[in-house]
Amino acid sequence: MKMYDVTGAIYEGMTVYKNKPEKQPRIKPVTNGYVTESRIELDVHTGTHVDAPLHMVTDGETFETIALEKLVGSCKVLDLTHVEDKITRADLEPFSIGTDDFLLFKTKNSWDEAFSFEFVYLAMDGAEYLASLGVRGLGTDALGIERSQEGHPTHKTLFAANVIIIEGLRLKEVPQGDYFMVAAPLKLVGTDAAPARVLLLEGVTTT
Ligand SMILES: [Zn+2]
Repeated sequence: MKMYDVTGAIYEGMTVYKNKPEKQPRIKPVTNGYVTESRIELDVHTGTHVDAPLHMVTDGETFETIALEKLVGSCKVLDLTHVEDKITRADLEPFSIGTDDFLLFKTKNSWDEAFSFEFVYLAMDGAEYLASLGVRGLGTDALGIERSQEGHPTHKTLFAANVIIIEGLRLKEVPQGDYFMVAAPLKLVGTDAAPARVLLLEGVTTT
C-alpha cells in the first residue's frame, strides 16, 4: 500500500494566506528544568484545514457538526494543472463526477512554495455545477477555495449544499486517480475550521 501525506507543514515562517503576519503560527517552547511543553498559537485556517459553515455564514454550523464519516473514505484526485486563473464548469465537465464523490483539485498551486496572489480557485459556476451533482466534498491545493470574489459566492454555494471544503492540500506528488482518504481534523468544538492531517492511500478498496 502506498501512502501520500498531502498535508502542509506547520512552522513559524510557513506560507500563510496573503502573507498576513497575524496569520503566522507562534510556537513557544516553555522549559522548566528538563521538562519542555510548547505552546502554540494558530489560526484555525492554518495550513491544511477543513472549513465549517460558520466561516462564511453568520450563525452557521460549527466544526463538530461535520461528520468524520464524510472525511474518511474514497476520493478522486483530478488533474487540473493546465487550468489558469480559475476552475470553471467547463473544466470539470470532462470528468466523470458522481453523487457523493469527494474531489481533490490538483492544480499548479501545488508547486507554489510562497503565497501566490494569483492562485487557482473554484469559480462560482464550477461550485454550482458540483453542488448540483451532489458531491460530498472538495479539496483544493490553494489556501482558499475562492479568491477575492465579492460576497464569497463559492463558499456560500458549497456550504448551502453541505459540501465539505478542505483547503491547503499539497498534491504535487500525487497522480490523478482514485484513493482512500483519511482526513483527520483536530477535534475542536465551536470553531469555524480545524487544521487536519490528510493522508491518501493507494490500493485500498472500500466495500
Ligand atoms: Zn479556510
